[in-house]
Amino acid sequence: MARTTDPVCRLCRREGVKLFLKGSRCESPKCAIERRNQTPGMHWQRRSKASEYGLRLREKQKLKRFYGLMERQFRRYFSLASRSKGNTGESLLTLMERRLDNVVHRLGFAPNRAAARQLVSHGHIYLNGHLCNIPSLLLKSGDTVTVKSHPRSLQLVKLHLQDNPPPVPDFLERLGDDPPEGRMSRLPTRGDIDPRIQDIQEQLIIEVCSR
Ligand code: SF4
Repeated sequence: MARTTDPVCRLCRREGVKLFLKGSRCESPKCAIERRNQTPGMHWQRRSKASEYGLRLREKQKLKRFYGLMERQFRRYFSLASRSKGNTGESLLTLMERRLDNVVHRLGFAPNRAAARQLVSHGHIYLNGHLCNIPSLLLKSGDTVTVKSHPRSLQLVKLHLQDNPPPVPDFLERLGDDPPEGRMSRLPTRGDIDPRIQDIQEQLIIEVCSR
């Protein structure tokens, strides 16, 4: 299972925006974007203005990195979205919101998507009553996500829920706290996309991916 192992704050600095890859640190003054918002590398001042293609590429990279995807996974989602009936841009964004690791994060069981991915792949999460260790699995309307009733699993999740219970988006609902459980009440729409990436310009992404 491939995943990026680059230093994550470097990814934010490359995109020039906060991608919220670390949890509470992202909201603090220690955030690298707050302290040193410059492109990584020695010659960052010499970089010329981005081309039209460069602008589109950066938009795609921003979305890919926000959801912690590799290029191949991203291309697979784009291919699925372009074959879907509705708007390709909206389908692409909603496909990413339906990933199991994203749902675990947005239900507040993990501080960021990388931690959510680890919770899933280490076997702490049940999907519809069955153990599921595939973070990329796409959820359907009515699917329930439950934290395993094991002291270690509960401790990991409850610590985060107590510290920082985030608001749950409209397409999800939290069902209980012991064990923590949630449900996807309907499929997400464009308005349900994580507010921290709401301003993404999906049209630019489609243009670069269709080349
Ligand atoms: Fe690092 Fe989070 Fe700030 Fe990004 S938003 S630079 S991951 S602390």
